[in-house]
Amino acid sequence: MSPQTISNPSPTFDPHTLRGDFPVLERTAASGVPLVYLDNGASTQRPQAVIDAMSDCYQTYYANVHRGIHTLSEASTDRYEQARRSVTAFLNAASSREVLFAAGTTAAINTVARTWGDQNVSAGDIVLLTMMEHHANIVPWHQLAERTGCRVVFAPLNDNGQVDQEQLDALWQQHGARIKMFAFTAVSNVLGTVNPVERWVRQAKQYGAATLVDAAQAAPHMPIDVQAWDADFLVFSGHKLCGPTGIGVLYGRESLLESMPPFLGGGAMINSVTTEGFTSAALPEKFEAGTPPIVEAIGLAAAIDYITDVGLQRIHQHELHLTQLAHQALAEVKGLRIIGPADPQDKSGIVSFAIEGVHAHDIAQWMDTRGVAVRAGHHCAMPLHKDLGLAASTRASFYLYNTTEEVERFVEAVSEVQAKFA
Ligand code: PLP
Repeated sequence: MSPQTISNPSPTFDPHTLRGDFPVLERTAASGVPLVYLDNGASTQRPQAVIDAMSDCYQTYYANVHRGIHTLSEASTDRYEQARRSVTAFLNAASSREVLFAAGTTAAINTVARTWGDQNVSAGDIVLLTMMEHHANIVPWHQLAERTGCRVVFAPLNDNGQVDQEQLDALWQQHGARIKMFAFTAVSNVLGTVNPVERWVRQAKQYGAATLVDAAQAAPHMPIDVQAWDADFLVFSGHKLCGPTGIGVLYGRESLLESMPPFLGGGAMINSVTTEGFTSAALPEKFEAGTPPIVEAIGLAAAIDYITDVGLQRIHQHELHLTQLAHQALAEVKGLRIIGPADPQDKSGIVSFAIEGVHAHDIAQWMDTRGVAVRAGHHCAMPLHKDLGLAASTRASFYLYNTTEEVERFVEAVSEVQAKFA
């Protein structure tokens, strides 16, 4: 991904209009004031189109997929497989066989670690991560290390909240082909840092390593092209891009998915079962044991249609604009430290910060009294927070329906916290 020039999004992009598509945004917070929802990094809200697509399925054609020869099952199967084709187009994947539905990013990474990892990683090998990873992209590799004796190595960050490219180069030179997998986030869920995916994939390939891109914070906010990025695996969750919970995607290069053993065993993932054993189904069913998240897949496709209609590039520009406003205003707040790149152009729509002498939870609690929903804690990135010398931080994360007025209310609430607690 290349840095973006920040400008006001095109005049046709109007978050005020888009808000009308999201019923929950009409409500007030517990304090009775209008809600400012800035917890999108954790989960976004759903537009009516997604809610309608899911309830339409339940109300008019729901049945289990693939195994039925009756009208409802055929209708559900059609829509489920249509959802897979929508994701295929969304990612620009070469084939729908490369698109597997999973419960979410966490489940997808665990699947890769348990299948590709167990098959390809041995004692003495290295799985390379960055210091800004979410626990979902750390713990499955620690578990792989426990099973195989491999080592998990973290690429360090510079003071600007980016991976230090020189030190990353040095890790490749030092460990070379012992690195079997480079698994990294495309966008940090804490720092907002946008990572150079294509460059890192190219670098990993020079050493024969596989790559996994955690796109949980990228897929909702910017265009993705798995063929251009050329990573072996890419994962994301539906609930962070206006879709339902309980569904995510594991994209995998077809040749790799073919060579990997299945993960979960059960119905749907088999070709045949005997008292002696089983043979696996072809892709993608091989990795989709049991009844899949049918309605969730249909909801995910509706969410993808929605954000694609709005335009990923425009969403990204809009969020950069809000981030820039937030950065400018927060720079005036005494004792406040923004965590992550100083220049919004290096970021996505995430603004995490700490205020000297004030606990992150106190900040979030006060802000809730002002109707502003932010998240406080380690954001499932404990190694990163340790590296930053912080126990916790407060995070505001923007999405397509957030407005400049909301950024102002957010900054106002932060200033009150500073005056009251610091
Ligand atoms: N990776 C990143 C960068 C995330 O931000 C998150 C969620 O916050 C995850 C992984 C885990 O996603 P999920 O909880 O949907 O599996």
